[in-house]
Amino acid sequence: MTREQSYTIAFEKQKEVLRFKKAAFDAAMQNLKDTNPDFDKINSRLSFLGAQIATIAISGNTQSLKELQNEMTELTALRDAILKNASIGDIVYDCDACKDTGYINGKICDCIHSAAKKIRLNDLSASLPLAECRFENFDLNYYKNEDVDGANARKRMTAILKLCREYVINFNPKSSESLLFMGDTGLGKTHLTLAITYELLNRGYDVIYGAAYNLFSDMETEHFTGHTNTKYNAAIDCDLLVIDDLGGEFVSSYIQSLLYNIINTRDLANKPTIINTNLSMGEIANRYTPRVASRLIKYTAKKFIGSDIRQLQALEKK
Ligand SMILES: [Zn+2]
Repeated sequence: MTREQSYTIAFEKQKEVLRFKKAAFDAAMQNLKDTNPDFDKINSRLSFLGAQIATIAISGNTQSLKELQNEMTELTALRDAILKNASIGDIVYDCDACKDTGYINGKICDCIHSAAKKIRLNDLSASLPLAECRFENFDLNYYKNEDVDGANARKRMTAILKLCREYVINFNPKSSESLLFMGDTGLGKTHLTLAITYELLNRGYDVIYGAAYNLFSDMETEHFTGHTNTKYNAAIDCDLLVIDDLGGEFVSSYIQSLLYNIINTRDLANKPTIINTNLSMGEIANRYTPRVASRLIKYTAKKFIGSDIRQLQALEKK
């Protein structure tokens, strides 16, 4: 789901709720008018008094003005009592700031911003383990604190976790660096990039996250059957694009140029991208052409090391 789509849904939902509230209010008022003839008379008299008071106030006849005002006060109290008796109150808005219109002085209200954010997070949570993959539950204990072939997995992953947390804190959609997370399956690349995605979406940034096979096949389908490029444009325009599992998709010359166009366009616009892959740089060059690899060399590359966490977790459960 794109940011635009989440806002469209947020506005539609708000309109629908407001329409429902107004319809319920109107129906209750109509029912009151139908069943209580006095109510209608009081309302007509109140409108009449309102107009009279305005006219007399200008003429300066204070005596009759006072009489009319007294009558108005009495009738208003009577009217309010009838409404109260019928349990009809004013419409209660979900957002007092914008009265559920979604706008304040032509600007989108915070209630819509937060609704759109929730819609996107929910949408993403439906297909990805967004709640399980947070910084807080990234468990460094799964990485051995000893040197294996000159590298200490615990130390390496502690540094990468720190980098990811700082990436979120210092995130700037126009200047943050692009990241290339490399290493075997099951070492936490998806976990950490989902944690980044969650944190940034929560801060209101426009993040697109997808596994390469989903992202590319969606764009391909859209391009060839729908003749639109909504998903492609969203991937180009978003604040942060995360491509998970690059290399896990079926590659074609179309996909090769699609990937190149996406990373090159984002690169030229200084927009950050994060890519997770099990492939080495040589394999990337072979699979997607050297020009793709030449773009990815500019990314800050981090090699994840350790043992497959899913296997370790499975062993623990035995
Ligand atoms: Zn509002």
